[in-house]
Amino acid sequence: MRVKVLGSAAGGGFPQWNCACSNCHRQRQGRLRGRSRTQAQLACDLDQDHWLLVNASPDLRAQIEAEPCLHSRPGLNQTSRHTPIAGVVLTSAELDGTIGLLLLREYAPLHIYATRSVRQILTGSNSMFRMLHREAGQATWHDIVPGESFDVRGDGDHAGVRCLPLPLDGGFPEYVDRELAASLAAGEAVIALEIESLANGRKLLFAPSAAMPMKLCSAGFPATICFSGTAHSGLMMS
Ligand SMILES: [Zn+2]
Repeated sequence: MRVKVLGSAAGGGFPQWNCACSNCHRQRQGRLRGRSRTQAQLACDLDQDHWLLVNASPDLRAQIEAEPCLHSRPGLNQTSRHTPIAGVVLTSAELDGTIGLLLLREYAPLHIYATRSVRQILTGSNSMFRMLHREAGQATWHDIVPGESFDVRGDGDHAGVRCLPLPLDGGFPEYVDRELAASLAAGEAVIALEIESLANGRKLLFAPSAAMPMKLCSAGFPATICFSGTAHSGLMMS
């Protein structure tokens, strides 16, 4: 399983547009030994030609353009439209992980995997996301349930991945109407995701907002852990 870390910064990226701290200031002036970073975004390959995104960051368009594996390829169908992005798994309804869906609205069939509550927030009360449903077959939502694994495959019998959503502590975003938030399942607000390659069994754990990601692992220790927490600035890998 190939995993691309397309972005690894917290919300706002680095340097952050409204930040004049020493790091952001020196980065803009080219005096910092560091790299600018886009907002957290992961992609896992399902096979040679298909990729699964984990969340959809506000920087997604630039992240796709910066990664040749995700570029549209000519000559694969009757039209000039094509994308290797087979689907998106959402770990919450937070803006930092969902705004990018609006950038994928250009009439490409898109499979979106999210908990029922996250789907209800994005498709029910949030009118902007109706842009994903301008024509039949544009976006297909798949309800996922914490604790129940689901498979995402590339094309036909190609290997793909098995995803296990794990409930995390955390509430619904502040933009969600209080009455709606109270009616939704609390355990569906934020999930971690264990992603297992169906080709070789290798695992990756993606855990947003988790203080102790290792405790989440279902069986064995995954080869890679991606997590972020309020005590850390951004997304870390080990
Ligand atoms: Zn700063």
